[in-house]
Amino acid sequence: MSILVTGGAGYIGSHTCAELLNKGFGVIVVDNLSNSSLTALDRVEEITGKSVKRYVCDVRDEDALTKVFQENSVDAVIHFAGLKAVGESCAKPLEYYDNNVGGTVKLLQCMQAAGCKKIVFSSSATVYGMNNASPLREDMPAGGTTNPYGTTKLFIERILSDLYASDKGWSVSILRYFNPIGAHKSGKIGENPRDIPNNLMPYIAQVAVGRREKLNIFGNDYDTRDGTGVRDYIHVADLADGHVKALDRVLGKMGLDVYNLGTGRGVSVLELHAAFEKASGVKIAYEIGPRRDGDIAECYADAGKAERELGFKAVRTIEEACGDTWRWQSQNPEGF
Ligand code: NAD
Ligand code: UDP
Repeated sequence: MSILVTGGAGYIGSHTCAELLNKGFGVIVVDNLSNSSLTALDRVEEITGKSVKRYVCDVRDEDALTKVFQENSVDAVIHFAGLKAVGESCAKPLEYYDNNVGGTVKLLQCMQAAGCKKIVFSSSATVYGMNNASPLREDMPAGGTTNPYGTTKLFIERILSDLYASDKGWSVSILRYFNPIGAHKSGKIGENPRDIPNNLMPYIAQVAVGRREKLNIFGNDYDTRDGTGVRDYIHVADLADGHVKALDRVLGKMGLDVYNLGTGRGVSVLELHAAFEKASGVKIAYEIGPRRDGDIAECYADAGKAERELGFKAVRTIEEACGDTWRWQSQNPEGF
């Protein structure tokens, strides 16, 4: 079976490629390298001893994408390609709508033309917006997103659902990720932000290797057990497993399903900070500052539906994720 992985050179994509290869799938990556490097795919090949076919191209480039479908017999697509920085999406909304929404529409058109109607899509817990209380369940109303990035995910979910309503021959799995962290056990691939990290874990990791002076904790006056924000951090290797399970489902049946990929457990900023210090043996300086605009107190999954229907359960601990991130970051202090 050949799987086309858009955005496969990125953080979650590269880990998923490794898992797909280990499970015996053929992997074809399409990536424009706007936020990644081909070194990640070289490392995937090193880890697995298998090769990855690569196309450096943009999913919005219809001619290039059509050629990819003509040159390969693609059984299904896992669609990671997209821009993901919340703050940047507020400054450059058109770029986000063009890349994420426009890119997905082009991809779906090329898939339709090629007769490939099976897709696993990277959505986000951000589609639950501000109005639902955790634990978040897939049947809660999506909407009320607070930034263009989140709205692109909401729109794409809607486009997929309209497409499926128009043609029941499609098979679609929408995966709402919670907070991916961690790195491959080998320390060879991991998260590699181009600029100052927006997310907590890569920020902590860069303080640990001395690239940043201290962690700024955004508020300790939330109504949570220690006052800091609570999130559902899921190991990227568990996420990769979740993708293979979702892929098995789209390969096996038609339909459209939405799944949370989370652990079901909330962890505070201070708890993650402490777990990282313990795993790395490095003291991470921090300062408590004001809340960050748009943040909510807590966000964690009800992970039951993915367990019941996909047989997926996140099994790796926060401690393991911190240890794996530390191995990756200390072996690759400047990233790829
Ligand atoms: P990433 O930036 O590491 O990976 C995205 C990849 O897509 C990159 O390699 C980038 O070069 C590529 N890309 C971007 N636009 C493209 C285009 N037009 N054509 C071809 N390639 C393109 O991000 P990630 O963390 O691996 O996230 C993967 C997906 O998961 C994204 O869609 C993201 O929105 C979603 N997601 C991520 C998180 C998270 O916290 N990391 C949470 C929820 C959802
Ligand atoms: N956070 C923080 N300092 C940082 C980055 C994040 O205190 O430098 C907090 C943030 O307020 C939230 C949690 O860490 O409570 C997770 O933030 P992240 O941006 O990683 O994920 P998201 O908020 O998108 O779920």
